[in-house]
Amino acid sequence: MTKYRLHIDGDWVDPDGGEWLDTYDPYRGEPWAQIPRGNGEDVSRAVRAADRAMTDGPWAGLSASERGKIMRNIGDLVVKNAERLAEIEARDNGKLLAEMRSQLVSISECWYYYAGLADKIEGAAIPIEKPNTFAFTIREPIGVVAALTAWNSPLWFVAVKCAPALAAGCAVVVKPSEFASASTLEFAGLMKEAGLPGGVFNVVTGLGPEAGAALVEHQEVAKITFTGSDATGARIYETAARTMKRVSLELGGKSPNIVFEDADLDGAAAGVVAGIFGAAGQMCSAGSRLLVHNSVKDVFTEKLLRLAHDVRLGDPMDPRTNVGPIATPPQYQKVLHYIDIAKAEGARCVLGGKPAVGPGLIGGQFVEPTILVDVTNSMRIAQEEVFGPVLSIIGFDDEEQAVRIGNDVAYGLVAGVWTKSIGRAMRMSKALRVGTVWVNTYRTYSYMVPFGGMKRSGMGREQGIEAVNEYLEIKSVMISTDDDAPPNLFVMR
Ligand code: NAD
Repeated sequence: MTKYRLHIDGDWVDPDGGEWLDTYDPYRGEPWAQIPRGNGEDVSRAVRAADRAMTDGPWAGLSASERGKIMRNIGDLVVKNAERLAEIEARDNGKLLAEMRSQLVSISECWYYYAGLADKIEGAAIPIEKPNTFAFTIREPIGVVAALTAWNSPLWFVAVKCAPALAAGCAVVVKPSEFASASTLEFAGLMKEAGLPGGVFNVVTGLGPEAGAALVEHQEVAKITFTGSDATGARIYETAARTMKRVSLELGGKSPNIVFEDADLDGAAAGVVAGIFGAAGQMCSAGSRLLVHNSVKDVFTEKLLRLAHDVRLGDPMDPRTNVGPIATPPQYQKVLHYIDIAKAEGARCVLGGKPAVGPGLIGGQFVEPTILVDVTNSMRIAQEEVFGPVLSIIGFDDEEQAVRIGNDVAYGLVAGVWTKSIGRAMRMSKALRVGTVWVNTYRTYSYMVPFGGMKRSGMGREQGIEAVNEYLEIKSVMISTDDDAPPNLFVMR
């Protein structure tokens, strides 16, 4: 069994407490590696190393173009190690190897994208109204960044957080999820070869309330970028406020996938099925509420049932598998519990609703793709994030009602809209209170397009050019060009 070590200041080190945690293969239900149980002391060492790297280490002295070159090397090494990293991710979180492979391609490209941005971070000269005063802005790295990530796409989160942070000139301490830390540690092992100076990219693994909480509380951390549940996000936001840290939060969702009567119903059905059963529904962007026009509700439900029936559960490493296991035992219990809640509230199960068993379904963490009807939007099943393969179907009569139901949740991450009318697509895109609208598609991600949530789904944006601003402070400088004595500064100029 692989026994990992922490990655601090460019070196592999044992955890201060001398303890390790088992990490499980959710498909087999067996531990396959051990990750260090980092504590507050490990976090302090990592943060101090990051701080040194940013102040007097070689990182601080590099030009932006030199930073970019190192980041390109990181992209190259991701390409070179993609297969190995994808296999580790699939083994650790139970998602399909095919999906992790495809993510690894985007991850390398994300590193190239922000590598190219590193030397294009510019300030501005401002032609102000004051005489004899030259004003300009400088954009400076915000400071040490703490990146706390979820288990469902570990290296994707590392890329969309750390690539813009490094482009900005920051140093990072990553605390990956205790359920899937291995790929982040393996990735850290590539940094020396890429030429990244020690201390710029540190990884402290361990439990959320221990290593994670210590990182969030640490005085020398300037910025927290977090992906995870809204409950943890709220706790982190509260703690960060005490030391006035900057915070970006990528949290959960209860996203509507909205199908109009004029849509290509076959295409929409394929999108709805993939949008909720892909990754066993363990996506922040899961389209867990299907809002469908009442005139096509029955025929559309029939299409869904046919497609969902063919969804193949099994070994995430098998290319024929569509859906793998639920990643963790608590999450598995939670999904089944929500199905019980829905039934108790009056929802009717027309597909699935139970643990999935059968040949090849080992490890005991499979849930049948589940479709619920007779759901009203006020039910808990329609309001709370399940993070599993559970779809609730709700009918609507017109566009205005679709918008009202679509927006009537605490979350605001993404929405799907299926229609052939360009006017309706535009109206819906404007009316939905979400960070991303997908029209006639679903789960389309690009590191070039900003992603993030409104309302309880979080704050700040990842991906795209804007993301780099999350890791920068703007400094304004005003210089008097007057050779004479300064004017009366007792009066504000
Ligand atoms: P989680 O909140 O349980 O854990 C996320 C991270 O926070 C982990 O590294 C964990 O160790 C750490 N953590 C836990 N408690 C902590 C504490 N008290 N202090 C500091 N850190 C702590 O989330 P999860 O189960 O790993 O991920 C699932 C959630 O993530 C879902 O709600 C999902 O919607 C969300 N998610 C959001 C996005 C997005 O981009 N918006 C993407 C993927 C997942």
